[in-house]
Amino acid sequence: MGSTADKNKNIIPEGFLFTQQSLSTFSNCPLKFRKRYIENLKWNSYPDEDVKKRLDMGNDFHLIAHRYFLGINDEWIEDEELNRWVQNLKSSFPINKDNIYLPEYKIRMADTVIRLEANYDLIMVKDGEIEIWDWKTHSIKSEHAKAKKRASFLNKLQTIVYMFVLKEQSRLINGSNTQCHQISMNYWQPDPPGIIEKIVYSEERHRLFKEEIESRILKIMDYDYIEFDKANYTEHCKICEFNWFCNNQKVDFKALEEDEDFLDSLRWED
Ligand code: SF4
Repeated sequence: MGSTADKNKNIIPEGFLFTQQSLSTFSNCPLKFRKRYIENLKWNSYPDEDVKKRLDMGNDFHLIAHRYFLGINDEWIEDEELNRWVQNLKSSFPINKDNIYLPEYKIRMADTVIRLEANYDLIMVKDGEIEIWDWKTHSIKSEHAKAKKRASFLNKLQTIVYMFVLKEQSRLINGSNTQCHQISMNYWQPDPPGIIEKIVYSEERHRLFKEEIESRILKIMDYDYIEFDKANYTEHCKICEFNWFCNNQKVDFKALEEDEDFLDSLRWED
């Protein structure tokens, strides 16, 4: 029979694949990671109708974009704003038969430490180069949040995980071992249409990203939940779905609306 300490350590199931959302959740709070990814407790309600509507619109946009890059043309979309987003997408990305389009594409990799899964909105192979495209449809309201978002793209876990996994598995996409400088990540918004940030990969970034991912995974694998102290995570509690469970307090919906990890997690972790 295992000791109490054993039960609170080594809880990651064999074959577990980390994602950018799960790595990010662990940094926000190890208990939240455990509840979400090990105990599989999911958020199943939305803050309010307005937020739900915007989330639905973002999901619809991703679905229509997926269909567009598969060659299915949705001619008319009833919702005026969504229709504008889609028309912006089509005029920004006219289909070129010489390119390869891989929409809603999943890539997995595993080595001795790193076991990862990345879910891409679009991978485009163009003139031998690989472009990652990520649709950013969440509206961030405050100026402070906008500035924070722009400044954080390079160090964003999404950037780190997506570029690293793609480089490691690039032969599956491009048929050869693509060089780092031939890979880019582009965050794109549909309205007004344009690239919010473009990051070109490099050997140096690949090395740094590997170290970053490895150290995060090793930390999670080795974490002993007996040491968990929620006092260290109070900042995050207000936007955590387990706030009622841990603190008997309601979620701060206003703050939650600007938490991109939460919004992304709703899309990818049904
Ligand atoms: S409410 Fe706070 S302590 Fe509880 S899981 Fe969420 S972030 Fe962690």
